[in-house]
Amino acid sequence: MAPDPIALARDLLRCPSVTPAEGGALGLLESVLKGAGFEIHRVTFAEPGTAPVENLYARIGSETPHLCFAGHTDVVPPGEATSWSHPPFGGEIAGDMLYGRGAVDMKGAVACAVAASLDHLAARGGKPKGSISFLITGDEEGIAVNGTIKLLKWAAERGESFDHCILGEPSNAASIGDTIKVGRRGSLNGTLVITGKQGHVAYPQLADNPVRGLVTLMSALMAVPLDHGSAHFDASNLEFTSIDIGNTTVNLIPGEARARFNIRFNDCHSQISLKTLIERLAADAARERVKWRIDWEPSNADVFFTGPSPFLDLVIAAIKDVTGVVPKLSTTGGTSDAMHQVDERTAVADLVRLTAVYRKILDRYFGSRGTN
Ligand SMILES: [Zn+2]
Repeated sequence: MAPDPIALARDLLRCPSVTPAEGGALGLLESVLKGAGFEIHRVTFAEPGTAPVENLYARIGSETPHLCFAGHTDVVPPGEATSWSHPPFGGEIAGDMLYGRGAVDMKGAVACAVAASLDHLAARGGKPKGSISFLITGDEEGIAVNGTIKLLKWAAERGESFDHCILGEPSNAASIGDTIKVGRRGSLNGTLVITGKQGHVAYPQLADNPVRGLVTLMSALMAVPLDHGSAHFDASNLEFTSIDIGNTTVNLIPGEARARFNIRFNDCHSQISLKTLIERLAADAARERVKWRIDWEPSNADVFFTGPSPFLDLVIAAIKDVTGVVPKLSTTGGTSDAMHQVDERTAVADLVRLTAVYRKILDRYFGSRGTN
């Protein structure tokens, strides 16, 4: 029998799976999915300097089409538990709301996808007309180096290939069904480092103040827009987030000055073309008078965009049938920081509706041929 999505969501919320802890959440999914005939893989990824993190891949069926539900069961810390009106790991329902860390982001959606899949399978004698899989990481809210990227690589090495994927991250702006995210800007972090020559403020001719160069290069990088937006995205944007000199002596010219920045970039750029552009702007402003370099941090976060397709049409139609709303297609950033605050909660009725949306998608996806 297919599980009740609300009961499953409550059980998941009771697992204290703050990144990188598994907290029992993947174990719970394993037992539920195994009971329905899924083949389960629990894979742990580790890397020097990072905590090992558990991940789960489950699949039923060996044929195409292959629909994958991706997601994560880790959550951000609850903060001060006493500030919650219901315990963050209690899975309590009050009024018509389900409370708990992860209710929105995104144990609720994981529970709905599992419940809808098992319900769909039960209606078809337990076997899909293709394949259904779950690709669930425990490393989304942390630094995310032992999560989805490695899990996808692991799956590819096993010969797994996916025709379509749904990621149940919160995406709606005001009410369920109002928004589908069809793309996301990329994100790149860097540090601008200016080296000068330390010295006493009384003898500036003997020193080379890096603050001057830092101000010049920062101004140059902020002066021009990186682009004017594209057909599907807002303009790319560079923001300086910190200036670090660390000099506590007021009469000393420092030897080095740094500024950290983040760039959110659209599909006018790749990481490589963007780095080239920024370094050219810096070099032009430095005019061989300023000694500078940019230390780029590695980034997983490339820009992506999913164009119109029969699959997207199928999802839009399923949402419209269940909620009556025609979803807006959006490529803007995070939905709301509210989901990471105290008293994270979601309407029980929304979980029921989301399960119905997933069920409708599954029924149509495996009911029709030639979906791509
Ligand atoms: Zn999330």
